[in-house]
Amino acid sequence: MSAPRPITPDKHPAWFEIDLSCFSGNLARIRKHVGRRLICCVLKANAYGHGLIPIAKAAEASGQVDFFGVAHLSEAIALRNAGILLPILVLGAIHEDQIEDLIRYRVEFTISSLYKARLVAERAERVGARCLVHVEVDTGMRRTGVRPESAFALIDYLLSSPCFSLRGVYSHLAMSETPGDETTLRQIESLVRLKEKISLLGLLWHLANSGGIAFYPDSWLDMVRPGLLCYGLSFPGAFPGLQPCLELKAKISYFKVVAAGEGISYGHLYRTEKQARIVTIPVGYGDGYRRDFSNRMHVLLRGKNYRIAGAVCMDQFMIDIGSDEAFVGDEVVLLGRQGNVSITLDEMAALSGTDPREILCHFNERIPRLYLKK
Ligand SMILES: *Cc1c(COP(=O)(O)O)cnc(C)c1O
Repeated sequence: MSAPRPITPDKHPAWFEIDLSCFSGNLARIRKHVGRRLICCVLKANAYGHGLIPIAKAAEASGQVDFFGVAHLSEAIALRNAGILLPILVLGAIHEDQIEDLIRYRVEFTISSLYKARLVAERAERVGARCLVHVEVDTGMRRTGVRPESAFALIDYLLSSPCFSLRGVYSHLAMSETPGDETTLRQIESLVRLKEKISLLGLLWHLANSGGIAFYPDSWLDMVRPGLLCYGLSFPGAFPGLQPCLELKAKISYFKVVAAGEGISYGHLYRTEKQARIVTIPVGYGDGYRRDFSNRMHVLLRGKNYRIAGAVCMDQFMIDIGSDEAFVGDEVVLLGRQGNVSITLDEMAALSGTDPREILCHFNERIPRLYLKK
């Protein structure tokens, strides 16, 4: 028997199209916006659903980024195994059992307490290696990070230990997605004050996530950490020129004519008003296409909007096209543009009462990702 080949879009009736030129264009646009600052492109959670490795390779090849940010060691190892050479910073809290791998794979990581620093030092001493670390300071997120007043002792400890090479100090913004926010201004001030007091040369100070990059130039410091913006998603009032680079498409898998008053899909949450053509689309919540889109989200077919009819099932859902025409095999756009109409992630997020990042992270590996370079 021959080795199994990966499922390619031509063997699956739905696919993501990810435009890598568009992605690189977004990086160039961010680069232009932040000038000489380093850029740490955040790739956690499968590069916000866009696919970790192809996105990392495109970012590295673009020459626009200096660092990669991930949440977990496992993501960093996947990047190294794929041949990624740029510095990688694990932003999440690490576990002391991970030290050997963090060193072996040349991964930089975050230290947020003296307690953890000592645990790490014990392990690092045993293998006689130096860990490249960044200190995270909590200026207002209250997630991880040492308090600003405790940062001095932690930094002193790291500088005096042969186990550590201190590369940076950073913090994370909690409220940066609207301009002029008081909490954000206080967070910026808090980290800047610490920077002035510590005044060590060669340290990378970083704070800005996408909101910080869009609205708070004072938060840019030495390096910025964009996630959302890299993928072309932004906020009202932010700098222009970014383009979403992911689309979700499918082919109509079935077609039937249903009489007036018939219930459609589980629970018969939708009923036809008159005799209608009902079209089946082979995507469901098993792919991460959310069940709360039932009866509410719409899709694009032949340049027109059609609302979902009834519940989204695990693997498929239906639309009611009335007396319009469509054929099995016709292309349907679930996210993205078709002719003059489009469906955006913001629209999906608003409908689900969530953040566009969560919509992206729900998309899993069942639908193949097709990478385009235009
Ligand atoms: C996720 C994350 C980012 C990127 O956030 P966006 O708002 O998507 O740009 C930056 N820094 C840290 C510490 C993060 O956890």
